[in-house]
Amino acid sequence: MEEKIIRYDHPNGEITVLWRPKKCIHSAVCVNTLPQVYDPAGRPWIKPEFASTQELIDQIDRCPSGALQYELHQK
Ligand code: SF4
Repeated sequence: MEEKIIRYDHPNGEITVLWRPKKCIHSAVCVNTLPQVYDPAGRPWIKPEFASTQELIDQIDRCPSGALQYELHQK
């Protein structure tokens, strides 16, 4: 089966956060760094609109498992 990748588009059109649930090791680095974006109890649990593109990039680069990645879009 193909690995599931869930996409969360930022309304600014600049960035999409990608999350691979199977890779996540639940280290909570994301939740501790940007709690306004990553809320495991929220639906959806990732709300990219609560951070800037640069804040998301800086945080996603620190995800230890590679479960979080991003795509940047030309505007
Ligand atoms: S930082 Fe990455 S590995 Fe850790 S909980 Fe968040 S998505 Fe999962």
